[in-house]
Amino acid sequence: MSAKELDLLKEKLLAMRQDIFHRLRHLDDGWQELAEKDIEFEEEAQKAELSELYAQLDGREKEEIEAIDLALDKMDALQYGKCEGCGKQIPLPRLQALPATRFCLACGARVEEKKRIPPALP
Ligand SMILES: [Zn+2]
Repeated sequence: MSAKELDLLKEKLLAMRQDIFHRLRHLDDGWQELAEKDIEFEEEAQKAELSELYAQLDGREKEEIEAIDLALDKMDALQYGKCEGCGKQIPLPRLQALPATRFCLACGARVEEKKRIPPALP
């Protein structure tokens, strides 16, 4: 990977990070509005539902930011683009599509598979 390619990926990661923060701020405003409306109409059930949804979104965005920060840290440590599963260099087209990924295609598929299947009972 050339320094220029790395620079472009870094820019992409920083833009993604900013985008998430913008989205979070937007959500905050929307949520505040909804919360005020809910108090007015006393729709407690709906309020609980929205709060749950918000918590979920919050968790996913947090994960995204963590993945981006990890990738940026790796860039600083000159470890960026190395698969955490097999230690091989992740192909550039995959990094360009998913700059915050920690795994090559094969290891990524394995990790996703593990997440989907609950652990077997002893
Ligand atoms: Zn791998």
